[in-house]
Amino acid sequence: MKNFLEEVNARIGGVALQNCYHCMKCSSGCPMAEVMEYQSNEIIRMVQLGEREKLLNSSAIWLCVSCETCVTRCPNAVDIPRMIDVLRQMSLEAGIKPAEPEVVAFHRAFLDTVKLGGRVNEPLMMVSYKARTGTWFKDLVMGLKMLLKGKLSLVSPRTRNRTVIHRIFKRTSKL
Ligand code: SF4
Ligand code: SF4
Repeated sequence: MKNFLEEVNARIGGVALQNCYHCMKCSSGCPMAEVMEYQSNEIIRMVQLGEREKLLNSSAIWLCVSCETCVTRCPNAVDIPRMIDVLRQMSLEAGIKPAEPEVVAFHRAFLDTVKLGGRVNEPLMMVSYKARTGTWFKDLVMGLKMLLKGKLSLVSPRTRNRTVIHRIFKRTSKL
């Protein structure tokens, strides 16, 4: 049976996490470092040490914004955003209640609209997000202002061949 490090490495499928020599170049450039309880290189260390429960229950894995600054700065090309995606997936598979439910709701709302039309539809995404979080009136004024300034489009282009999109979702939607 694989240990936590081996399992995460296998699912990353790229540079193994043992290549990290903890220079902290990733963490020092991370725009979310201030709010994440574990820095990116700390997360790697925790995977190396097998701290599965702690990591899968952490909010850090949900607060990463996948900007890829860390992997760009890493001298060893350790793919931290990919590792974090793997940890998120493992957390959901384990049935753990996400430490940042609104972030998960946002991801799901985004995917709802892509599933429907092949592309993001912002108003639909907002409705889906609000319905998932019950925060109907939060940011209402800002939303209206954005709409009036043309920053939100009520219509968005749809992908012509949506059968392909539906097929992708069917094959990959496990959770
Ligand atoms: S920059 Fe790369 S080698 Fe340095 S700590 Fe981060 S992941 Fe490890
Ligand atoms: S991808 Fe995530 S961990 Fe890496 S720099 Fe961006 S926010 Fe930080």
